[in-house]
Amino acid sequence: MAQILDGSRIRDEILEELKPRVAALASARRPPGLAVVLVGNNPASEIYVRGKVKASHDLGIYSETVTPPVSVSTGDLLKIVNGLNQRGDIDGILVQLPLPPQVASKEVLLAVSPEKDVDGFHPCNVGNLVANLPAPRACTPAGILQILKRYKIPVAGRRAVVVGRSDIVGKPVALLLLHEHATVTICHSKTPDLAAVCREADILVAAMGRPAVLTAEYIKPGATVIDVGMNRIHDRDEAARLFAQSPDKWATFEKKGTVLVGDVDPAAMRERSQAYTPVPGGVGPLTIAMLMANTVEAAERSLGR
Ligand code: NAP
Repeated sequence: MAQILDGSRIRDEILEELKPRVAALASARRPPGLAVVLVGNNPASEIYVRGKVKASHDLGIYSETVTPPVSVSTGDLLKIVNGLNQRGDIDGILVQLPLPPQVASKEVLLAVSPEKDVDGFHPCNVGNLVANLPAPRACTPAGILQILKRYKIPVAGRRAVVVGRSDIVGKPVALLLLHEHATVTICHSKTPDLAAVCREADILVAAMGRPAVLTAEYIKPGATVIDVGMNRIHDRDEAARLFAQSPDKWATFEKKGTVLVGDVDPAAMRERSQAYTPVPGGVGPLTIAMLMANTVEAAERSLGR
């Protein structure tokens, strides 16, 4: 039986460990402060931000959400970010993506002070990641490393294959695995014979955003599979095919008319892997936990700890 890597349990552990650090900061000076910039009314972004604000609140982190209208200009957004950079009570700044098309997103992300860049997206922090220097790391990749570490899955000396080369998941997770001494291959949409490359992986990280495309032939028996994908299925036939052996998932589809699936075929993952992250409940819960950890670390750094 494959082991399920329970992201919610690891998230709870991390948040529990952060509590005394938040309390120590609060009594030494003030609670850590996180500012979230949420432009417009994108429903998915609103849900993500709500989760981040709630997690901050539960942990005793001060949080503030700035909500400029969807018509905001790059200049106005830069003024908001610069204002937050100057604030002594704000340790972390998060600009929720995507930004509307008229905004120069890269310019805005570049304006966030690297010390307050709790998403780890600023080029300075990407450079720190490449050089393996201490700095905020991108949250989802950092969460994946926490899952491997806390489940004691060996990384050093093993073959890791990452499918996806985005700046927010694929590239940073590949670098983190490399720093942990894995032999890492990064794949993308132009990789020939993807299945053969994936079958070499002791640790397979799927971050493509393509529903259940990695089937049994992509998984080496006994591999650890980290499924980052979050894909919503609306098609009844596809849901029936993917979840024929998962009554719970099928019931969810019947009730809601939609169900989440990762990038890896769930049945193949269960049958071929030694351990895997389920979707949902695997990688997802770690993203917010690592954002909280980055905010606490930023506050500790600013206090000189
Ligand atoms: P992205 O920016 O769209 O990048 C997708 C990557 O996958 C690209 O590098 C692309 O290759 C590659 N790819 C796409 N189709 C492929 C194929 N058929 N074969 C091989 N490679 C393929 O996506 P992302 O932002 O990294 O997110 C990936 C997934 O993770 C999404 O489902 C997203 O929702 C999920 N996600 C989850 C969390 C979480 O907290 N759980 C956080 C972030 C993202 P090219 O570069 O060649 O186009």
